Amino acid sequence: MTTIDYPQLYIGGKWVTPVSHETIKVHSATTEDRIGSVPRGSEADIDAAVVAARAAFDATDGWATWHPKERAEVLERFAVELEARGAETARRVSMQNGMPIWVAEQFEAGFPALLLRYYSGLMTNAPVEEARPGMMGGTSLVSKQPVGVVGAIVPWNVPQGITFLKLAPALAAGCTFILKPAEETVLDAFLMAEAAAAAGLPDGVLNVVPGGRDVGAYLVAHPGIDKVSFTGSTTAGRWIAETCGRLLRPVTLELGGKSAAIILDDADLSGMIEPFFGCTLLNNGQICWLNTRVLAPRSRYSEIVDTITDLASSLAIGDPLDPATKIGPLVSKQQRDRVEGYIAKGKSEGARLTTGGSRPAGLDRGWFLEPTIFADLDNEATISREEIFGPVLSVIPYSDEAEAVALANDSVYGLGGSVWSSDPERATDIARRVRSGTVGVNHYVNDPVAPFGGIKQSGMGRELGPEGLHGFQVYKSIYLPPTA
Ligand code: NAD
Repeated sequence: MTTIDYPQLYIGGKWVTPVSHETIKVHSATTEDRIGSVPRGSEADIDAAVVAARAAFDATDGWATWHPKERAEVLERFAVELEARGAETARRVSMQNGMPIWVAEQFEAGFPALLLRYYSGLMTNAPVEEARPGMMGGTSLVSKQPVGVVGAIVPWNVPQGITFLKLAPALAAGCTFILKPAEETVLDAFLMAEAAAAAGLPDGVLNVVPGGRDVGAYLVAHPGIDKVSFTGSTTAGRWIAETCGRLLRPVTLELGGKSAAIILDDADLSGMIEPFFGCTLLNNGQICWLNTRVLAPRSRYSEIVDTITDLASSLAIGDPLDPATKIGPLVSKQQRDRVEGYIAKGKSEGARLTTGGSRPAGLDRGWFLEPTIFADLDNEATISREEIFGPVLSVIPYSDEAEAVALANDSVYGLGGSVWSSDPERATDIARRVRSGTVGVNHYVNDPVAPFGGIKQSGMGRELGPEGLHGFQVYKSIYLPPTA
């Protein structure tokens, strides 16, 4: 097969020769074959990207000074160029990280353009400056200014969708941007850079420098960065928060999760199995908000375990490029080893494996793993407490609603969650009592109009909604004197 190889980096609106000769080699999660490569960014490349982004932001006629409508015109062209590359974006992501193609078409091909249009609309429809009659005799002019040059670091699990949670509001607000994608998923990031170039984004507004954690850490601490936006593990988030704390640098952190699905005693789970799958095992279990703890009433425990077991064992496992595939491979050998370690831990701690737990027969290449369900365990088990980031669910019994809510809240994380019932009002009441940034009722979708993010060790700050735009803005007040 032809490989996708990029010899240059996208910095300052141009394809430039990287400082180092090192490359990042990308492998298919399905075949393990090498499918492409990009230059490995170095500290010197980050320096060049920061110079370009600073110039684009600080110039007297720079991106920040443009009227929101002018920026919206460019961002509309960007959306069109992304849509033209949508099928290829979905294909690249699917090959790189194993995301089923029908998921990639929504999250990776469709969502970015939608977010660009949503945030352009918010910016063009909201007044940039507001005059507030003062209480001290004068008037205050209150405006929201773009925060400046953004350093963004994203993971491999939903690379384009997550990039645009940051990029769309940042560019609409007037910020300039340096993206450090994850090493596993760089090929889609370079395609996105091609779309930006074709759309005519002004030089330096968007820069892409791939690399590992060293390059990421260098970007976070760079003196030319005004704001850091990070999505990834809680461990890395802690390091980044420490750096930003020391530098007094604003930071948004979207981190890990161990969310709970509460199945109420009146729920018809088998009638809602599609949305339940989307809530628990989507993208091969590699989504931060997935509900990997399923809380089931004791009165219906064995029936619910059977329903979930039947679901997991019926899912088509295979090539993620096949539209019929429900479960593709995990992103890498390292990730599968990690998940298998948790499966071994679940067994050794006495949980009952009801299905899965092995590599599927007949799929000898690729990082495949069967969807795995554990029953007869409690919320204290290691696999009920730690984020696994693979297709592994714990089904935990509870006695009454109060205990269900207490168990859902008994986690160091607080990112997602869901409540399942034939009575949506009852479910909504329970959802209000779950301590988490987001909770779904009988389904779970990240609605662009509503803020998304976590509490506790799931992070700080919000993306999506107008709140996601505010994360890239700072308030400024100009005090006008009383008029005579
Ligand atoms: P990771 O933290 O290892 O890596 C994420 C990104 O951060 C990569 O680009 C990596 O190169 C970079 N990085 C790692 N350490 C760094 C450091 N010290 N300084 C700067 N950059 C650093 O995470 P991962 O394994 O790639 O992704 C999975 C994790 O991401 C899971 O914990 C998942 O829950 C989380 N996640 C959270 C959200 C959310 O919105 N809350 C969304 C997706 C994924």
